[in-house]
Amino acid sequence: MYIDTHCHLDCSPLYARRHEVIEQAKASGVEQIITIGTDLQSSQTSIEIADEFPAVFAAVGIHPTEVNHCPKGWQEELVDLSKHPKVKAIGEIGLDYYWQTTKPAEQQQFLHEQIEIAKEVKLPLILHNRRADSDIKSILTEHGYYRGVLHCYSSDEYFAQEMLDLGLYISFTGSITYGSKRLQRALSIIPINRLMLETDAPYITPEPYKKSTNEPKYIPLIAAKIAEIKNLPCQNIEEGTTQTAREFFNI
Ligand SMILES: [Zn+2]
Repeated sequence: MYIDTHCHLDCSPLYARRHEVIEQAKASGVEQIITIGTDLQSSQTSIEIADEFPAVFAAVGIHPTEVNHCPKGWQEELVDLSKHPKVKAIGEIGLDYYWQTTKPAEQQQFLHEQIEIAKEVKLPLILHNRRADSDIKSILTEHGYYRGVLHCYSSDEYFAQEMLDLGLYISFTGSITYGSKRLQRALSIIPINRLMLETDAPYITPEPYKKSTNEPKYIPLIAAKIAEIKNLPCQNIEEGTTQTAREFFNI
């Protein structure tokens, strides 16, 4: 069995079809799913979906591109949400210097505060990092908290090694099927006990379905590509990454 460690079942193309999406995932061997919040409202909806389906768990957090519309007192609300028994991580949180819709200083402030919340409530971090390698590293180091996964990995093998040395985990989406040699080199140095699978659905659909909406049922396509790049049997990837995800998220 597989675990999709990161998708967004609260997003409109998936939410309305969530029963079917979860059934089809199960039929392709994806038996557990973690649905990820990006602001207070989507974190709340993620918890409601986790309450509705035994196979679904939730993460709660404020995404770096959503920091500009958070109400005052969001910190207390996030702590409250994080105490729900099906919440398994604080995320997704991090830095995104690609879209430039929110200010880096504001993103950094939210990241600092959410790392402290994760420490307080004893949950791991799900980190979004786009073009912000050195700031991510320095903020993590400042807090000395490395219980986290770099989701949708998009940096190079040198940064991957630095993150592994700190104790972090790394997860790959369908972007690994797009042919980037840099991503393949990064993947090849990551041991299976630090590696997890995710779709980030409804985004980043793996090949050969790149033009359609992504869903958790496509996890085996990502696993097959990873098995090919690592030159290992697919079963090793399936069992190894599932074991890693179970331990990391305590599910
Ligand atoms: Zn995501």
